[in-house]
Amino acid sequence: MTVPLFPPVSSIGAHSASSGAEPLADGPRFVKTQRMTRWHRVRSGVRYANGRTVYHLWCQGSVSDTGFIAKESLASDAEVCGPCDGRAVGAGQEPAGPDGRLLVFGPRDLQPPAVCPGSRSEHLTQAIPPGTVGRCLACLDLHPVRAMGGPYDPRSAITRHAPGAGLVTPCPFHRWKHLEAADGAVLRCACGRVLRDPASAAA
Ligand SMILES: [Zn+2]
Ligand SMILES: [Zn+2]
Ligand SMILES: [Zn+2]
Repeated sequence: MTVPLFPPVSSIGAHSASSGAEPLADGPRFVKTQRMTRWHRVRSGVRYANGRTVYHLWCQGSVSDTGFIAKESLASDAEVCGPCDGRAVGAGQEPAGPDGRLLVFGPRDLQPPAVCPGSRSEHLTQAIPPGTVGRCLACLDLHPVRAMGGPYDPRSAITRHAPGAGLVTPCPFHRWKHLEAADGAVLRCACGRVLRDPASAAA
């Protein structure tokens, strides 16, 4: 038995598409290495191209496939890392626990941004003739296009807006932070993963 995992949010230098790293959808409930004094909870997991698996813990540490034990349930006197368990339960990884208390935890790096990443971005603006309105490639909404920037950085781009309902499904590693347009309306992460390809969506 496993629990659902969250996306392994990473900095842009890590986990490029060419690295072959894949996020894991689920993983073990409680983990512990020989050196750990208590049991920890898994937030996310990555399988690397070389077959290695690394699980990241809610309390910032990690365990890799060499040398940890995983358990589905623990004895009542087993010591469990409080930050790990509280965050795991509060984020919804453990719907039934603990003790009927309603824990809440919303990891900030998983929330959709308040301002659409396409805002004020020339690259993410798809101009629609005659050019006063454009489509945001991040969320597909239509917004006015304005000249902006200064004399050193002139550009014409879509205005600042909240993400529309069509906001692209984010990169599992880098979220919405590094969106790029490639070949027309294809949207990808700077790591190389294609996030939206209108050509394949139409098929
Ligand atoms: Zn922990
Ligand atoms: Zn947008
Ligand atoms: Zn990415």
